[in-house]
Amino acid sequence: MTSLTILPSARRLVGRCRRVPVMPTARKTRLSACTVRAKHGGLDDSEFVSFKLGERQQVTGNTHLYRFKLDDAGESINLPIASCLLVRATIDGEEVIRPYTPTSAATAKGHFDLVVKVYEKGVMSKHFGDLKEGDELEIKGPIVKLPYAANMKKHIGMVAGGTGITPMLQVAEAILSNPEDKTKVSLIFGNVTEQDIILKKELDDYAKQYPDRFDVYYVLDKPGFLWKGGKGYITADMLKQKMPPPSNDNMVFVCGPPPMMDVISGNKAPDKSQGELKGLLKGLGYTPDQVFKF
Ligand SMILES: Cc1cc2nc3c(=O)[nH]c(=O)nc-3n(C[C@H](O)[C@H](O)[C@H](O)COP(=O)(O)OP(=O)(O)OC[C@H]3O[C@@H](n4cnc5c(N)ncnc54)[C@H](O)[C@@H]3O)c2cc1C
Repeated sequence: MTSLTILPSARRLVGRCRRVPVMPTARKTRLSACTVRAKHGGLDDSEFVSFKLGERQQVTGNTHLYRFKLDDAGESINLPIASCLLVRATIDGEEVIRPYTPTSAATAKGHFDLVVKVYEKGVMSKHFGDLKEGDELEIKGPIVKLPYAANMKKHIGMVAGGTGITPMLQVAEAILSNPEDKTKVSLIFGNVTEQDIILKKELDDYAKQYPDRFDVYYVLDKPGFLWKGGKGYITADMLKQKMPPPSNDNMVFVCGPPPMMDVISGNKAPDKSQGELKGLLKGLGYTPDQVFKF
């Protein structure tokens, strides 16, 4: 039988897996799953695992940060860039699964954070809104969306709406925290009002700390009287001014509510593949391999 090296932290998790009766050929798979769990702080990319909500904090009126605890306070989820987690819950007798991107650093010890906005008619987001400290949630991952490698592009443009900022922040953080990565990042971030802008402090800090590598342009549908950023919906002119031009050296990432995706790039296909490139980016001359829809 193939011998597997199991990290001490993985050994604790093997205990959980022992309950499953396995054939000799299956044993290797179970141990591999345990090794994945150990590497990712208890997360498993092949099955849902329950995590306890440690604390929740209000971020904006309808958005909270949910901090989930890892069994081992010294472990991290070490998510590959760019990846998300799937959250599963049974709501009104129906199984509901939605993707979320942690906002905590991949190396944060003992916990990971999800920032979730509650929509009035949202099924999973309302379930989050009802969570209390100590409640458990079933989570699976990491689910790799786009395997990012340092310097794979010279300039990455990002167009985000609302909570669509979370996958962008994950990539930007990985790029900016790596001194070997010379990629430039330009972000357009659309929201309804100034109060709706989540993670603004983190983004503004990046813009200050890395003025030559990161810039952010905020756009509001309903700006206040004194607002100096973009106003209305994101337009072709804004994209032309702020995004890197169409080129195989560059790429544009898009993530936001379906109506925004529709206008900017076209939505993903029902099977969650990239779907046809449409909208303003197509009109500006980008090709499908220069655009990635999260
Ligand atoms: C890769 C990826 C990462 C994501 N990361 C996050 C994250 O970190 N945090 C987060 O909060 N969300 C994130 N999302 C969105 C998340 O997966 C859900 O779509 C969102 O929480 C709404 O789910 P729901 O079940 O509440 O709404 P649904 O039941 O799917 O939708 C019901 C109704 O809610 C409203 N609604 C739903 N989504 C939106 C929206 N985006 N904008 C406006 N209205 C909407 C609409 O009226 C819709 O008809 C991510 C999505 C992707 C693809």
